[in-house]
Parts: sequence; structure tokens; C-alpha cells
Amino acid sequence: MDSPAKSEVVVQGISASQGIAYGQVFVFIQSDVEVPNYQVDAEKRIAEVARFEKALVETRQQISKIKGEVEKNLGPEEALIFDAHLLVLEDQALIGETIREFETTGRNIETCFNQISSRYIQAFSEIDDEYLRERAGDIRDVAQRVLQNLLGQAENSLSRLAEKRIILANDVSPSDSAHIDRAAALALVTDSGSRTSHAVIMARSMKVPAVVGVRDLTKRVKTGDWVIVDGYDGVVILNPAESTLFRYGKIQERKKTFETRLLNANNQPAITLDGVAVSLMANIERVEELAAIEEYQAEGIGLYRTEYLFLNAARIPTEQEQFLAYKSVVAALAPRPVTIRSLDLGGDKPMTGNPHLFPKEDNPFMGFRAIRFCLVHTDIFKDQLRAILMASSYGKVQLMYPMISGADELAKANVVLEECKAELRTRGQAFDEKLEVGAMIEIPSAAATIDILGKDCAFFSIGTNDLIQYLLAIDRVNDRIAHLYEPTHPAVIRTLKAIIDGAHRQKIPVSVCGEMAGDPVFAPLLLGLGVDCLSMSPAWLPSVKYLVRAMTMADAKALATEALAMSSPKEIFAKCDQFYRARVELE
Ligand code: PEP
Ligand code: MG
Repeated sequence: MDSPAKSEVVVQGISASQGIAYGQVFVFIQSDVEVPNYQVDAEKRIAEVARFEKALVETRQQISKIKGEVEKNLGPEEALIFDAHLLVLEDQALIGETIREFETTGRNIETCFNQISSRYIQAFSEIDDEYLRERAGDIRDVAQRVLQNLLGQAENSLSRLAEKRIILANDVSPSDSAHIDRAAALALVTDSGSRTSHAVIMARSMKVPAVVGVRDLTKRVKTGDWVIVDGYDGVVILNPAESTLFRYGKIQERKKTFETRLLNANNQPAITLDGVAVSLMANIERVEELAAIEEYQAEGIGLYRTEYLFLNAARIPTEQEQFLAYKSVVAALAPRPVTIRSLDLGGDKPMTGNPHLFPKEDNPFMGFRAIRFCLVHTDIFKDQLRAILMASSYGKVQLMYPMISGADELAKANVVLEECKAELRTRGQAFDEKLEVGAMIEIPSAAATIDILGKDCAFFSIGTNDLIQYLLAIDRVNDRIAHLYEPTHPAVIRTLKAIIDGAHRQKIPVSVCGEMAGDPVFAPLLLGLGVDCLSMSPAWLPSVKYLVRAMTMADAKALATEALAMSSPKEIFAKCDQFYRARVELE
């Protein structure tokens, strides 16, 4: 029986990246494969082993195919990881033990394989030898693939969208987001998450509309269903009616006209109506984003998130590999400045290829991440610092440490930096002897000790994404409390003011590189509070510049003074929104 025409359903989420998209959904569920557990009848046991062998063959074919593609597109170096994966499939101990376990217990082969492979993963991740420890990640990847094949589940990867699709996911980890096929992603919708999760930051940088916090939508929608994603109002509309499609078509046309106006005005200088020049920089994660830097005319790079070089790598990139990546960015930007942030791995950004480096933690955001990780793994930290130093002779580099919580950490990082400089001098390797070093201010303890940190910093950059989560005790990727993540909370505004004033008393410049900087509703407040530079996803430069050119700094200062005297986050937000709307004719 044909099902009746499906009726329209409107789902309210949280707006995370502006824009409108209409298309078919690709549902992406991120989870370990769920393994059923049952007894296999004696007469079916031979067939069960044959099923296992078939899955192994299928997995081998899939991995060989991916290896070929990666070799063709990225080169043989990048494809090496898949040799290690193929070796896992040859591992007689793993395969043999699985079959023995099956013969002894009679439980289904998925259960036996899952049990044995988990034991191997655990054992490898505890080995002292780094190379062997890294094999734990290979075994996990291959085991998931074998299980998917045994269970007849399709490969679920964001890198292989056959056609343009709206990605609907329960969650997108930073390593998954690095895989997103940019040409095919029409929009991103996630059950969980918040406006500052890394998948969303990426969607914003790609100008892909995004809505987060739609709860259980992945359970209600199937791959292939048609939806509208309204990234302005944070709405997803399932099975839109003709009239809705028509209405959204009109909205999209008006927004496009406005965008064109922004882009046309983007080659003008970022100067306010009362003649104050504002410095607008870009945040990047990958070398490929250089084109966007030129397209949107950034004055430099205010935040280069280097961890993306590591996230999906099978092994830690060498000093030379890192040097080449940093150098290509620095040389392309020269003489414009590039602020390279040292590794911010851990927390929500573990390195998937090296799970042993990031053991599971109950509180990853407050755990072993960023500078804390680097000061323990100094070999990894030093490779990176030397690579950054070497790149500094190709243009203007600034080095920035993430997650600095106090002066001791900063001093320790600088000691390691000095060691690296000495090593390069011994090697006769050139670098910028005057390289400036700064700290991200994203932990309340750093904000409260600006006067102390200032003694060892040439600049500060405020990471509002993290600063807000730590100040308000609101996990930045938890949708249940996303409504409490309020950039206009008086505690945030007062803290920003204290950081900026404290830095300026020491004549130290301050920028903001969190998502707040690229939001034209918040940019005037930040500038009014005295911030010297805003750094954002390149695609947001035109809207912020447009607003800068439509306002006076005197008005922005008055807005900041008013906001500082107010007590309600919602009212402060309304003031900022009003300021924005009064200056930008949206339609
Ligand atoms: C921040 O915390 O504001 C920031 C820019 O860093 P990230 O988003 O990479 O944590
Ligand atoms: Mg941060």
C-alpha cells in the first residue's frame, strides 16, 4: 500500500551557521558498531566460519580500494596506513583466536571477534613501545570494518557522499568533520552539539548552513528524505510543503542579494565611520583554506589551528612534514602575519590514529589537552616548535600557546622553545630570532592573572569559545545546556573588559579569535570593549567588515559601556542585536 503524502514537520534546533539549504538527507550515525550476542546452532557452525572468512575478504577488498584512491589523490605516504590495516587482516593470532573462541563457546562470530579484537586493542594500547602502541588504532579501525561487513552495514563515511546531501548526524567528531566532503555537503544538522563544536566551526568556515541540538532527529529521518535547513532561525523542516518551499525560495533570493552587496563592499578598508581602522584576520585549520584568505581579503592569520594536521594522521607528522605545511602558509601570506597556535589536541580533539596518547577521560575538556599534553610529550612539542621556528624565516610568524592556565606553564613552554632555538642554532638552521610569543586567554585563571602573564607575552588572543564554557561552567558541546551558553552573560563581558584593560596597561595588544569575533552581532561589543583585532573564519570577514564600515567606534564604546552596566544576558544580547540591525539593512 502506498503511504500517504508525508506531512510537513518543523523541528526547532539552534542556529549554528547561517544560510538555507534544501535537499536530501544523508544520515550519519557515529558510534561503535552494536554487536548482537547469540548462540549458533551446531549445524550452522561451518557456515558461521565461512561468513567470517567472507567478511575478511570483503574488508580486504574495501581497504585495498581506499588505499588505491588515497595513493592516487594524496600520494603513497598517506596511503601507508592502509598497509598496516591490511596486515591486521593477515594476523593469524587475531583470526585464529577468534575461530578458537567460536569453537569453544558457540557464540556468534561477531561476539567472538569483538571480544578478541578488544583484548588486542587493550593490550597494544598498554605497550611501552610507541610504534606497537599505535597499532591499537589500526586494529580498532579494521575491527569496526569487519564487524560492519559481518552485520551487513553500509560503510558510513562523510568523505564519500555520492551526491550533494544534507548531513544529519547524531554527532560529528573533529576527526569526522575533517573528512567531510566539502563539495557535497549542502548543510549540517546534528542531534547534539553547540555553536562552537568543531564540526560547526568548520561548517561556518565553509559557509555551509548548520543547525545543532535537534535531539533525536536522526531517529526520525531516513537517508534520502527531503528537508529544508534554515540556518538563520535554527529550524529544520521535514517534507516541506510547496508553499514552504516557495517562501524559502524568496528568503534565499533576498539573502543572496544581501551577500552580493557584502562581497562587493569587501575590497574597501575596514575603517569605522569616525575613522578608526580595525584589524580583521582569519582563522584557518588547513593549508587548503589559503584561497579563502585571499578571496575574503584577510589582513593576516590570527589563528592557525595546527592540530588538524594531526587529527586523522596515522602517525604524528614529522618535523619536516610540519615545516612544509607551516612554511606554505607563512610564505603565501608574507609579509602579512600568521599566528600559529601550538597543538591543541585532546579534549574534544583526540588523535584517532594514536588512541594510546589520549586515554579516555571523564572530563576531557578539563583534562589532558593542549599545552598540558605538550609539556608531557615534549618530543612531540619540540618537533612542532622547531617546525614553526623554521617556517618563521619565510615570513612573519607569531607563536601562540593554547590553554595556558598560569605563569608556570607559560614559563615551562618558553624553556622548551629556547631549547629548540638552541638546537636550530647548532644545526645552522635559520629562524626569526625576534619571533613573538603570546598566549591564548581561554581559562579563567589566565584571565585573572593577565598582569603576571604579560611579563612573558608579546600578545594575547582571547579564545571565547573555551573562556565562556569555563566561566559559565557550560560544556560547549552539550545541547541540553546550549541555551545557557551565553556570550553576553555579564560575567563574560566583565572578564573580557578586565583582560583587555589589563593587557593594555602593559601595552600588550589583544585579539579575539573565538566564534564571537566573526559574529557581526557581537563584533561591535568586542571592539567597543577595546579589542585590537578580530580573527574569524574567512567567510565571515565580509559581514564583519560591512558592519565596521557602517558604525562609529564612539557608538561601539557607548554600547560596551551600556552592556557593562546591565545585568541580563538576554537584554545585553537584544542591545547588541539592535545595534547591528540599526546599521545593516538586511533585506
Ligand atoms: C577558543 O576556544 O575560542 C578557540 C579559538 O579555540 P578552539 O575553538 O580551537 O578551542
Ligand atoms: Mg580553545
